[in-house]
Amino acid sequence: MKPTRLPFLSILLLSATGIFLAQTPADAPYKDPKMPVEQRVEDLLHRMTPLEKAEMLSGAGWMESQPNTRLGIAAIKMADGPMGVRNWTGSSAVTNATTTSQVLATSFPAGIGMGASWDVELVQREGQAIAQEVKALGRNMILGPTVNISRMPIWGRNFEGYGEDPYLAARMGVAYIKGVQSEKVIPSVKHFAANNQEFERHRIDEKIDPRTLHEIYFPAFKAAVQEAGVWAVMNAYNKVNGLWCAENPMLLSETLQKRWGFKGFVISDWGSTYSTAATVAAGMNLEMPGGEPMRRWFVRPEVRKAGNGAAWLTQDKVLAAVAAGQLKQEAVDDSVRRMLRVMFTAGWFDAAATTGGEVDTPEQRAVARRSATESIVLLKNEGGALPLGASKIRSVAVTGPSAAIARTGGGGSSLVRPKYSVTALDGIKEAAGAQVKVGYAPGAAMQGEDASAEATPSPAQLRNEAVELARKSDAAIVVVGYSYKLEAESFDRPSMDLPAGQDELIEAIAAANKNTIVVIAAGGPVTMTKWIGRVAAVVQAWYGGQEAGHAIGDILFGAQNPSGKLPVTFPKQWSDSPAYKDYPGVNLHTAYTEGIYVGYRGFDKGTVEPLFPFGYGLSYTKFDYSGLKISPAKVAAGKQVDVTMRVRNSGSRAGAEIVQLYVHDVKSTVDRPLKELKGFQRVTLKPGEARNVSFTLDKSAMSFFSTAKDEWVAEPGAFEVWIGASSRDIRLKGAFELAP
Ligand code: BGC
Repeated sequence: MKPTRLPFLSILLLSATGIFLAQTPADAPYKDPKMPVEQRVEDLLHRMTPLEKAEMLSGAGWMESQPNTRLGIAAIKMADGPMGVRNWTGSSAVTNATTTSQVLATSFPAGIGMGASWDVELVQREGQAIAQEVKALGRNMILGPTVNISRMPIWGRNFEGYGEDPYLAARMGVAYIKGVQSEKVIPSVKHFAANNQEFERHRIDEKIDPRTLHEIYFPAFKAAVQEAGVWAVMNAYNKVNGLWCAENPMLLSETLQKRWGFKGFVISDWGSTYSTAATVAAGMNLEMPGGEPMRRWFVRPEVRKAGNGAAWLTQDKVLAAVAAGQLKQEAVDDSVRRMLRVMFTAGWFDAAATTGGEVDTPEQRAVARRSATESIVLLKNEGGALPLGASKIRSVAVTGPSAAIARTGGGGSSLVRPKYSVTALDGIKEAAGAQVKVGYAPGAAMQGEDASAEATPSPAQLRNEAVELARKSDAAIVVVGYSYKLEAESFDRPSMDLPAGQDELIEAIAAANKNTIVVIAAGGPVTMTKWIGRVAAVVQAWYGGQEAGHAIGDILFGAQNPSGKLPVTFPKQWSDSPAYKDYPGVNLHTAYTEGIYVGYRGFDKGTVEPLFPFGYGLSYTKFDYSGLKISPAKVAAGKQVDVTMRVRNSGSRAGAEIVQLYVHDVKSTVDRPLKELKGFQRVTLKPGEARNVSFTLDKSAMSFFSTAKDEWVAEPGAFEVWIGASSRDIRLKGAFELAP
């Protein structure tokens, strides 16, 4: 018998699940760009088989989600961020190796440096630039921003986030997300929640009370959801209050979805899942990684040791959990719905939305350079040692393990390989000009690195050579800090101290040259007590990305005026930190006993003085604050308060000031921090120029999270508005009353 020719054979396709299914008609509602997103989502969802749905819940590879060719659902193609686009072919252990083929992209300053810029508009431009590079490199999702709070100065990932203050982190995170989403690229705000230590990050169980979560660790995520409408959230590795973040209903369904109204999808951190039904039911939607790379990764002893178990949301496991009645089909549908919603919203079904973009354009370079410049914080400048210049000096000695090597970023999944990078030494040479002679001696090797390719000199020889150079020079610049191998994701710094040999180098140089300037390239505070009193100037340069060297040169020689302010308190020593006593926890448990008193909130409550307070940073010019006006004096509940003041550049150079607004609740039924940041403005002024600056305070600026009421509460009564140049340099004070 002649085989039957199926006339519709041409419209049959073999789906990835191995079942013959009809192709959808060209006029299917979900294909119609004019239909509302929700209708398109539901239409497509109803066309999917249970197998196809289950298939979408786990990745197809290291950084890809499962596409569906029958229905035209694209793969989500991820790349790590947040400081630029990173290799997506494997874990950082693999891709950071020099032998791995490299993905080259613009390297922007570390998040902590972007935080130090307090420049919301610039962070948004950075997010947009990164998204353009994501597209140019054939990807469509960036795994950033990191908005975890810097709870302790030794956290290995301090450099990735925006510092210790929830309001500042929220502003920066929202800006980054808006920039990324404007290019139809999916961001993923991470790591939800409370990934604040790397020690045992896969297994640590953190006890955190609800008020602390809502006031400190949640606000940046909440703002990402409610203000930026973020499309994806990545869960953290750790447990919060006894449950893994990936299967934590309190975090995912109750807070993210119900309380905040999150409409996007949750992606797991790589290998952070431990169950099937509980994970999907809690609201974790896409497990990563997946496929063969995941299987290979999970058998690695170090991964096993860290506690990662296996893949849990594979198609077979999801289908089995549904069949066994452990998991509702509706929960699976919801995961798929959330991913589809984002894809429709981003326009992926319509035009070639995520094509185009370029890498390393002049504009991207300019954003990287401006960001690096604005990130730099001038911590000390005795007797106007800085800026340097031909009018003051004829020669300068440059030394230190981070002078001739560009320290663009910290280590781990965020490390970007740029096409080029400018070292501090090169930037200094360029900025110094022909009249200032720049000499260089390494001075010390970075711990774990060789100082030179030739026969390695002893530490004493290296140091002596630099000291000799410093003695003969009019000024000395010592560039110190960490490397991406010493400050990285997956471990914390052993202490706040600089790596071996660097304190000794600074001390020796300072003894040889009274005009010693220390430049620090590190992602968080370092101990400076041994030498801070003996050097003329200290500059915090963080990890400044590929343009760091230019920025350092421009600031040191005055082509640019420093304007960054600390997004974290710099304690004198690690043991002064409010989090010190609970670290690293006992038997894989740690309690956040300092509660809401993180960073400056903790220092304000205690008696220990920080080395440099939150919000602090010097300039080459001066700013005067005046004319504080608050209106109305008595505000009705739910209404806003307008605050204005005037800032004037009273010095002789153009510069930018970051005016900070803190709220002090005079009387409260609960214990509250002395002050909390609730507004800031970055103002650029020419010499003599003045500008009015205004702020609006709404209920959120007056509220605390009431555990009794399980909501934010603004208690009637007196409030004070403190306007400062730092959290401890309050220049203006005023008051208003919140009416009952
Ligand atoms: C990190 C994430 C990162 C992921 C993928 C994890 O180890 O915690 O931030 O996005 O790896 O590289």
